[in-house]
Amino acid sequence: MHASFRQWLVAAVSLITISSLSRAQTAPFHGIELSDLDRKADPCDDFYQFANGTWRANHPIPASMSRWSRRWQAGEFAKDRLHEIAEAAAAEKDAAKGSIDQIIGDYYGACMDESRVNARGMDPLKPWFARIDDAKDTAALQPVIAELHDIIVNAPFAFGSQQDPHKPSWMLADVGASGLSLPDRDYYLKPDARFKEAREKYLEHVAVMFKLAGWDQKSASAAAQTVMAMEAKFAGATLDNVALRDPAATDHNTTFSQLQALVPHFDWTAYFQHKQIPSDVDMNMDQPKFLQEFDRQLREAPLADWKVYLKWQLLNSTAGSLSAPFVQEDFNFNGKYLAGAAEMKPRWKHCVESGDQLYGEALGKKYVEKYFPPAAKARMQEMVRNLLAAMRDDILSRPWMSDDTKEKAMAKIATFNPRIGYPEKWKDYSHVEVRRDAFFEDVIAGRRFVEQDDRAQIGKPVDRGRWGMTPPTSDAEYSATLNSIEFPAGILQPPAFDLNAVDAVNYGAIGVVIGHEISHGFDDEGAQYDFLGRLRNWWTEDDLKNFQARGACVADQFDHYFIEKDIHHNGKLVLGESIGDLGGAKIAYLAYMKSLEGKPLPADMDGFTPEQQFFIAWGQFRGDAMRPEFQRLMVESDAHPVSKFRVIGPLSNLPEFQQAWSCKPDAPMVRPADKRCDVW
Ligand SMILES: [Zn+2]
Repeated sequence: MHASFRQWLVAAVSLITISSLSRAQTAPFHGIELSDLDRKADPCDDFYQFANGTWRANHPIPASMSRWSRRWQAGEFAKDRLHEIAEAAAAEKDAAKGSIDQIIGDYYGACMDESRVNARGMDPLKPWFARIDDAKDTAALQPVIAELHDIIVNAPFAFGSQQDPHKPSWMLADVGASGLSLPDRDYYLKPDARFKEAREKYLEHVAVMFKLAGWDQKSASAAAQTVMAMEAKFAGATLDNVALRDPAATDHNTTFSQLQALVPHFDWTAYFQHKQIPSDVDMNMDQPKFLQEFDRQLREAPLADWKVYLKWQLLNSTAGSLSAPFVQEDFNFNGKYLAGAAEMKPRWKHCVESGDQLYGEALGKKYVEKYFPPAAKARMQEMVRNLLAAMRDDILSRPWMSDDTKEKAMAKIATFNPRIGYPEKWKDYSHVEVRRDAFFEDVIAGRRFVEQDDRAQIGKPVDRGRWGMTPPTSDAEYSATLNSIEFPAGILQPPAFDLNAVDAVNYGAIGVVIGHEISHGFDDEGAQYDFLGRLRNWWTEDDLKNFQARGACVADQFDHYFIEKDIHHNGKLVLGESIGDLGGAKIAYLAYMKSLEGKPLPADMDGFTPEQQFFIAWGQFRGDAMRPEFQRLMVESDAHPVSKFRVIGPLSNLPEFQQAWSCKPDAPMVRPADKRCDVW
């Protein structure tokens, strides 16, 4: 295995060299898609439209997707590759039990055996429903709650591991708020027509699901009302998503006896015993007010209501693994009504996506062996180094920041930990029982693995080799307590990253993504963590005030971005991501300029200067089309702005952009001098 992998790596490297040479000899390849540009649009008026308006016009969002661009197309392409891997593993006749091929092959094979899944209907849930029904009082339901948590049905609270924000080398136990089924608390509480409508649709949806589970119309409708009433009470005690961005709001170090005193009607001793966690473990509770509401519900809600609520949580969480009518109704509400997708993805994609969630490092190991050459990793490492150096220069050049704060910021940059492609150490699935003839049980086995794998971290030193995402994921992330940035192999493909593209394009696409993640270390949230990942202020009072005022400019900018006549972004919700985009574009541009020092300036290509190529790359990477339903969902519950404003927002603040395109000072893509935001 090891030897053949090495041979493959050598082969892959030589292939890459050959293809880039042949390209270089025939036509200059630079990674910009000229045919995607909308040349009728003025780049100084609407850069989002200019950069890839023609691509969007010619590529309507596929029926099964909520957003679409070359980037999301690449994400779906990665799933085609996983599909091939899973098919090949499923065809393997004599894969050893517990081997990667056996696990992913049998999982995929069981998932694709739709007639068997359909024949079972909701039978797999019946033993669970019976356990809930057997409870004679609320106390008897508590062990069931603990068992539901074992299979990641986290209702009404969640329990898992978390890095200690005051001692980041250590993992503590965390008790969090959970148990809502709509995307956000506002859906339960706000009087606006669109939330009212969502509540009506949700009531219908819950009733349909209970009917599919065999209930009559009357009891299904009554159950839906019960679910709504209980979830609304929990929602009322939950912090909103702006408040949740403040790390202090969920920072409540606690002891076992304090937890027991706050929630006296839950048997925490039994729960901790079930979880095999000692009661003297270091612990945090995210939202004490929510836990008090949980206690109140244990005291006041009738046993029958609790039973309905828990059955719904289980049914809702596992609907995708049941027979076709459940899968379809789950899609009708969550995929179609809430996110705007017109039709379901094909079954194989659903199987690959759920396989990635449950057995992600097994599938992912195969994926990187086949599709992630070492040359890509080396190129990324070099870019990350250059971006960190640019961030260092950028911070040092800030006149408003004192030397004292700058020194602390330098320490933070020095401890940044970049992870690229895939983890050094892979998770071991060899003891997980996966069977070709038992799809639902395979899902449960995978969930148990994920839960145990997380719980096993509690009360131990941090394992810095663990990854937050699976290797085929098309995304990137920053962790403030690890001070790490993570770029899985899945995002390291065109249009984000291309070994054959010119530097301007790689810096404009993945470079801005790298800069974005680095800037998260210095956004309104990340800046509260120091060089060791501790939640501890390292700013002088004046510098902090200045930084916050600069952030307020960005929040105000996004408060004025409307997706529909009455719906605009919430600047405070998207502030961290928008500081990330602004800082990311700025330092990626600086890093690109720095990489050119001492070299002749690259030639214009197809009439575009290298600076223009840089900005086009960002517009083409980021310029998604989105369904209106999905935009509404994002504006309400996502900390990321919609794509249009992730292109327009940061670029209209940058003098470098104005210069590159010779935009007039009053052009729409140029914010007036007194409104221009400048954080990093
Ligand atoms: Zn981000």
